[in-house]
Amino acid sequence: MSPNAEAYRALLLDHAAGASSPARQLLVETHLRLRPSARDLADALDVAGGALLERLEPEPVAARLHGAESARAPSGAPVDVLRDARALVEAALHSPAHLNWRWRAPAMREVRLPAPGATLLRLAGGRAAPKHGHAGEEVTLVLRGAYADETGRYAPGDIAFADAELDHSPYVPDGEECVCLVVTDGALRFHSLLARVANRWLA
Ligand code: ZN
Repeated sequence: MSPNAEAYRALLLDHAAGASSPARQLLVETHLRLRPSARDLADALDVAGGALLERLEPEPVAARLHGAESARAPSGAPVDVLRDARALVEAALHSPAHLNWRWRAPAMREVRLPAPGATLLRLAGGRAAPKHGHAGEEVTLVLRGAYADETGRYAPGDIAFADAELDHSPYVPDGEECVCLVVTDGALRFHSLLARVANRWLA
């Protein structure tokens, strides 16, 4: 399995297990809307995730769920956070010009979402983002347009992963601008145990 496929499966599995941060939850649910064919895998992992939770020792599961709970409610109002973030993603999908974009870099604008770690990015056609590395994992979902980097080309509904091992400078082909939902983990990491165990179990 390629690193991207592994990261993708871990992302969906954590989502199925309810262990995702609000930002990742938002990214996965938007991905599944844009790419209905991904639902088959998501549904399969949903079943696997349920079976897995039953097999794990009670203590780690309790600790994990506690961790996910506190991550889900950094402001004490997870439902509001997700509702407001969803509304902004919806606007980015259909009428990005109406959002209040702020300067992030030359040719790049951003809207920070209320879900911690989630940002909307807008890069003009024919322009490149500055080359950068990553402290944690960066997960990018294309909402409109397309971009490419050293790892491939990404179109609406596609998810790209970047981590500490990748330095890249995404660029947008001439023509249409690209709008993405980007989730960065920063110091927090929301997956590992469940995803690692499941990857072995499902292999
Ligand atoms: Zn990056």
